[in-house]
Amino acid sequence: MMEPKLLRPAFLATVLAVASALVPHPAAAQGKGTEKGEWRYWGGDEGSSRYSPLDQINAGNVGRLEVAWRWYAANYGPEPDFIYRGTPIKVGDRLYNVAGQRRSVVSIDPATGETLWMWRERDNPRYAASTRKNYGKGVAYAEVNGRPTIFMITPGYYLVALDADTGHLLPFFGLGGIVDLHLGLGNYPVDADRGVLDSGDITSSSPPIVVNGVVVVGGPCAVESLDQTRTIAEAIKSAGGQLFRGGAYKPRTSPYSFQGLGEPGLEILARVREEFDIPVITEAIDQESLHLVDRYADCIQIGARNMQNFALLKAAGRARKAVLLKRGMSATLEELLLSAEYIMSEGNYNVILCERGVRTFADHTRNTLDLSVVPAIKRMSHLPILVDPSHGTGKRTKVLPMSRAAIAVGADGVLIEVHHKPEEALSDGPQAILPKAFEQLVREVDAIAQVLGRTLQPALAAR
Ligand code: PEP
Ligand code: MN
Repeated sequence: MMEPKLLRPAFLATVLAVASALVPHPAAAQGKGTEKGEWRYWGGDEGSSRYSPLDQINAGNVGRLEVAWRWYAANYGPEPDFIYRGTPIKVGDRLYNVAGQRRSVVSIDPATGETLWMWRERDNPRYAASTRKNYGKGVAYAEVNGRPTIFMITPGYYLVALDADTGHLLPFFGLGGIVDLHLGLGNYPVDADRGVLDSGDITSSSPPIVVNGVVVVGGPCAVESLDQTRTIAEAIKSAGGQLFRGGAYKPRTSPYSFQGLGEPGLEILARVREEFDIPVITEAIDQESLHLVDRYADCIQIGARNMQNFALLKAAGRARKAVLLKRGMSATLEELLLSAEYIMSEGNYNVILCERGVRTFADHTRNTLDLSVVPAIKRMSHLPILVDPSHGTGKRTKVLPMSRAAIAVGADGVLIEVHHKPEEALSDGPQAILPKAFEQLVREVDAIAQVLGRTLQPALAAR
């Protein structure tokens, strides 16, 4: 199993942005009440605070239900526990839950109700200041380097990783099993006299989200018309693509080539997003288009040619939407990461990187797709990285094999140009694949992701 990604402060918003893009209608996509559905949709309320696999209880068996054992959260003090809203998860033959004010983590034998281990946050000033004592909606599970691990967030806003078998902190995760989620947030209200004001409000009662998903983004190079965009969006959605991408502003090598539809193109994207319930990514080429893209789209693309347009990067850092930052065609890894810093230094941490090929002497492809940058980035950065094999190769026949390779090398997704009539496309026709080929690509990317212990969800699960 590969190491799952966990929410860290700078990554939090990115993950939330991507996650919400992935799950436009969680209950529908996950199959509410089905065994494939996640626990949070199993009859839990919107806050995921009640656990009840309602699909297992029906008119026929409800009369025969018996209480097997009772489990009292109040045993897990030390403070009296007057509100308890934990949501247990079952992994293998164990239940895991949080209990009590402290959000103590417990492992329970589901056959007997016996508590097998318990972990409790120690006293600390942040616990004392926390506004989230009394609340704890549950824990999350993932394997880290093959080790079964329980994750939870404490009232004091620390992310904790515990060995699922023993309840001991995982020594190699964060600092001795703990990651301080306040670090790096850095923008608490400051009072001239009192210094940094109490940050106890910045916390969470929810279990951490372990992101293990892979995304497939598809769409035409350029938005050409409503009809063309609708046709392709429908194909992307029904094939299981999770995000739709199309350019309304096109940075073209020649000023005489099609430059994109501009704002009317953004309006088309907005219509398509509503109609097909799919989030959209589109490129901003200057500050003027950035403001419009920020208003219409779900994610702002900064293209390869603008990767070092520092004024634009800073403006993207002040935008509200996530930013997809493409690697410049001669940019080093460090330059790419520093460009991402430009965006984040202005307060927008929702940055997704994208490898799209670099210029080399090779002329069998349009660019040389540098897949080795993916594991290199994974060592240095928490940011997600997509691979764009369409611009990376410039050739339709190379898009599928390089997509498979991208996922195999650890990319968090692929960005694919698709057109139903590539020969008529106003830009990048030779690298656009047909909707049928895109379907196959989604299936194969999903299969490879699964080999690595990752998933392409919920797109395929919804089918
Ligand atoms: C595009 O994504 O259509 C594009 C122009 O890509 P890049 O900036 O990577 O050349
Ligand atoms: Mn293109």
